[in-house]
Order: sequence, then C-alpha cells, then structure tokens
Amino acid sequence: MNFNDIKALDEGYVLQTYARNQLAIDHGCGATLFDAEGKKYIDFTSGIGVCSLGYANEAWARAIYDQAMKVGHISNLFYTEPYAKLASRLVPAAGMAAAFFGNSGAEANEGMIKVARKYSYEKYGQGRSAIITLKNSFHGRTITTLKATGQDHYHDYFFPFTEGFRYAQANDMDSLLSQAGEDVCAVMMELIQGEGGVNPLEKEFVQSVAKLCQERDWLLLIDEVQTGVGRTGTMFAYQQFGVQPDVVSFAKGIAGGLPFGGFMTNEKCRNVLRAGDHGSTFGGNPMAAAAANVVMDTLTPAFLEEVREKGQYLRERIAALGSPYVSGIRGMGLMLGVGVQGMTHRELKDKLMERGLLCLTAGADTLRLLPPLVITRKELDQGLAIMAEVMGA
Ligand SMILES: *Cc1c(COP(=O)(O)O)cnc(C)c1O
Repeated sequence: MNFNDIKALDEGYVLQTYARNQLAIDHGCGATLFDAEGKKYIDFTSGIGVCSLGYANEAWARAIYDQAMKVGHISNLFYTEPYAKLASRLVPAAGMAAAFFGNSGAEANEGMIKVARKYSYEKYGQGRSAIITLKNSFHGRTITTLKATGQDHYHDYFFPFTEGFRYAQANDMDSLLSQAGEDVCAVMMELIQGEGGVNPLEKEFVQSVAKLCQERDWLLLIDEVQTGVGRTGTMFAYQQFGVQPDVVSFAKGIAGGLPFGGFMTNEKCRNVLRAGDHGSTFGGNPMAAAAANVVMDTLTPAFLEEVREKGQYLRERIAALGSPYVSGIRGMGLMLGVGVQGMTHRELKDKLMERGLLCLTAGADTLRLLPPLVITRKELDQGLAIMAEVMGA
C-alpha cells in the first residue's frame, strides 16, 4: 500500500488521537528507516526512545522468534525463565532489590504510586497519601498519571481525577517545601523532564529532595520511563545524580520495541506489594522479556560509554553548526533537546523530515533527539548533514 491508501484507511477507521507526521514507515535497519514509497530517513526518534537497538536487529528478532516457538505467553501464575533472568540482571544493574514487570510507562508509574501509598498506609495509617510531583513533568495518560503530571492542560475533561497530587517547581526546594505536609508520602519526578522539553534537573536539587525524603520517610519515586535503560549513557539516569530511589519505573527502551514496562523497589519496599496486591495479565510476557534480555546483553559498560560519546559528539556538532535557529542544547547521553528559535519546533521538525531526518518535539520550543542507542557515526553524520542543510548559518 502507498501512503495515501494507508492514510485513508487510518482516517476511516482509527480514532484520530495523534498529530501524525505525514509519513507511513515501512521498514528499517539500524537507525535508518524507509517509508511506504521507499524514501530513506535517518532516525533520531527510535519510536519515542523505544527502539534502543534500532530496526531489524538480528539478535533481538531471533530471541523473539525463538521464544515465540517455545511459549509466546503464559500467565504470571507460572514461572518463566526470561522473566526471572531479566529481573536477575536488571535489579543488580540498578542497585535495587526486586522488580515488577508490566507493559507500559503509565502502568509502571501507577505501580510505583501504589507502592508509595501502601507503604505509608501500613506504617502510618490513613491520611498520608499525597505525592508531590514537579511542574512541567509527564507521567502518563491514565487518569491517575495524568493527574500526577504537573501540566494543567492534562487536567481537563476527564473528571474526577485521582486525588492526592501536588506540584512543586523543579529545582526549587522552597517550592517543594511549600507543598510538604503531614499528608505527604512520596515525591515523584523525572530527572530529565522529557516530554516537558528535555530539561535536566539540577544535581543539587535532586540530592536535596533525596535527603528530605529520607528525613521524612517519604518514598523517592523516580520516573525513568524515558531516561532509563541506557538512554542517558548509564543504565539509569539517577546513577549520574548520586541518588538512589526507593522505587524506579522504566519502560520505553527496555525491550527494544516490544511493549514492556515495570518498576523496581529497594530493600525497604520489597515486601509492600504482596500476592494479590498488584498484577498484570500481559506483564513480563516471555517474548518481551526475551527481547529485553537482548537489550541487557547489549548494554555493556563499553556500550554505555559509546552512548555518552555519541551524545557528546552530536551535541558538539549541532553547536558547531552555529545555527541561528538554535537557542541552546540540553540533555544527557542520547537524550538531547535543541532549543528552537526563529521558527516553531514543529516547522523545524517538518523541514528536517522533508530532507530525510526524523526528529521529535517536546515542550513549547524544543526539538527532541532520541536516536537508537546503536546509531553509527555514519548515520549520525548523515543526520547532521541534513541539519546543516536545513539549519546551517
Ligand atoms: C512516555 C512516558 C511515560 C508514559 O509511558 P507510556 O508507555 O506511554 O504509558 C511516563 N513517564 C515518562 C517520563 C515518559 O517519558
């Protein structure tokens, strides 16, 4: 089918909930994609930070196929090797105690919120259930995670929302303390606000929040749905902030493109959720877990170092364009935000797409770059050449 046929079917039969790019992707290899007409694109999106191993990765596809031919799904009422094996690798890599596997970022954050509320209820009783989150954050699209998201426009229409969320200004301890009270049980935050504009938090702020959480026995919940699993050049971003969460969520990049998410708790919280307290029909599906094990095979210390180097290279090369359209570059590893001026971020994204480079947008004025972690120097250079054409001085 060509683009117009695909689009006509979609518009006829699909809820139009996305501001879609006018492009139908057909196939890819590495960090290179091809549309339905066969036109080539360099990919600086990896889905939205999902396809960490790029496209058509042999080991990844083989692991999914092999697992599908053994057992593609079985309920969580049985043990399976890929699930147990994945947990045994991810948990130590994160410095945590135990994992729960679900399917998506919002679901992972819901689980994290449940841990916080039950921990507090069992220790302190009712009335201590409020969670402080940050303004400009993004935590998901369920009724609860929409409310956890600190952006007003996500709080329209879908009333009544889950109660018990309060918002503090990022990098502002006074603002956070102004939301503190007897009713608080946790602070939940991203360390780089992704959807909100690729804004890294200040290390000092993050450490102060962690300290306050310890003092007040609030749980520190870190949402690493976007930043986790190698994206920022370490297994988790908090490893570069010098803090350790009580609970951390992850999703996007973990299974390289299959739906997968979850959270890990520290020792203090490992027995909060017990049999019957939480679950997920599809969570930890053996094929998705097998795929995630391939991602874990890939993320060696040397590979993570390359992610940091490639991120640094991309950053330096974009700065060296001397583009009048760039107001600044932020981020860590291969999670970069380019501030856009002189045109809108969407106009710039569309111009780059026309020339063969796929990028994302974030916040009000940011071009968001989340290339596959396996992107090659050659692909980076091809993408940069397109940026130079479109944005050059
Ligand atoms: C994408 C994202 C989510 C939501 O994940 P879904 O898989 O879409 O539910 C939550 N938190 C952060 C930080 C994200 O980037």
